[in-house]
Amino acid sequence: MKYLKFEELDNIQQELLNAAEESMKTHLFVDHDSGDYIGAALLTDKHDIVSALKLEDSASGKRCPEGIALVKANSMGYREYISIAYISESLSDEGEIREPCKDCRQMMEGYAGPDLEVILSTAKKDRIVVTSIDKLP
Ligand SMILES: [Zn+2]
Repeated sequence: MKYLKFEELDNIQQELLNAAEESMKTHLFVDHDSGDYIGAALLTDKHDIVSALKLEDSASGKRCPEGIALVKANSMGYREYISIAYISESLSDEGEIREPCKDCRQMMEGYAGPDLEVILSTAKKDRIVVTSIDKLP
């Protein structure tokens, strides 16, 4: 896999990743804090950004941000998507790039098609992978 630096992304990709990071850092509704934070930001075909954070609560468990972003964007009336940025920070791993789970990949493919651009980043944004859903390992 080829790693990029933040500066190598284009302006829109940088903006998208920054939006995902901002969401990740919000972690507002965490009442069951596992120390595992994820943010996602979805770029629509209208060039609007819809972002979401991972929700975690003791009643219903966890919900991934990429799924929430898709549901949120859809309920706002968006139907076409260009790209999604995904960033994670965990107290238990140091600087790993993590990937969306299987359920979310299927959901993203269903909503956005297999060639949706996916931007995966470490919390520090020092290693970034740009790929598409169908090329995720
Ligand atoms: Zn997921």
